[in-house]
Amino acid sequence: NWDTRLQVGSRDEIGMLGHSINDLAASLQRYRDTRRAFFSNISHELRTPVTYLQGYAKVLTDGLVDSDKEKKQYLSIIYQESVRLEHLINDLFDLSKMEEGQIKLNMEWMDLKITIKTTVQKVKLKAESKRLSLQLDLQDQVPLIRGDRKRMEQVLLNLLENAIRYTEKGSVLVRLTGKKEATVLSVSDTGIGIPKEELPYIFERFYRVEKSRAREYGGTGLGLSIVKKYVEMQDGTVRVDSQMGVGTTFTLIFTHEKKQRRDGMK
Ligand code: ADP
Repeated sequence: NWDTRLQVGSRDEIGMLGHSINDLAASLQRYRDTRRAFFSNISHELRTPVTYLQGYAKVLTDGLVDSDKEKKQYLSIIYQESVRLEHLINDLFDLSKMEEGQIKLNMEWMDLKITIKTTVQKVKLKAESKRLSLQLDLQDQVPLIRGDRKRMEQVLLNLLENAIRYTEKGSVLVRLTGKKEATVLSVSDTGIGIPKEELPYIFERFYRVEKSRAREYGGTGLGLSIVKKYVEMQDGTVRVDSQMGVGTTFTLIFTHEKKQRRDGMK
């Protein structure tokens, strides 16, 4: 039982050891809580689309729907829910590979402008269906960076999907600027924002801001931990700025110097 804290009286080595054990117990307890929350989340998240798939497929195969319009509507729900399932399974798969340290990146010189254009295309419909304007502000000549195209696309997709998911009205802006020292990519939204006290935790696995809010918006609590991990594997850093009710900006920074130094050493 990790709730039992040691009573620490002395201030010597034994006392310090006692404090360390208490800290360790507290972090184990936190790990257990997030794990438990994760499995209950994941079961819920898996069950919901499956219930829809079964329900609508059954109605269709039982011949209970006459109008073509309605049939189309049901098929479209089946399609959307299967896409949701696919995302969830992909996230889980990536996460388990990361845990085993099995992910190998295919590093090459790449143009982030192309990543942005491909990814934005994928979320266009989603943004339109919420009447959000999806804006690009891409500097003309941006230095190439070293990265893995597929992973970079997933990073940006996660950020864009979040931006759209947590924004009710306004816009989502993707900005790319290249300077001598770094290439900087940011995704800004005019959404609900993230409370200041939650900011240090949002990149943690399974972490979601407010449980009630998480249920309402869907998602798995895995997106940002995958973002951070992938960006760091590609020698980048992530930062977040947010103001409640105003919006959120995620910024990815890829420094050039460091890579050139390292390449020079090879
Ligand atoms: P989820 O699948 O729940 O979106 P993420 O790891 O992607 O999980 O994000 C963690 C939490 O951070 C989310 O539950 C959400 O509360 C918050 N969050 C992420 N992106 C945004 C954003 N653009 N605006 C507001 N809140 C966000």
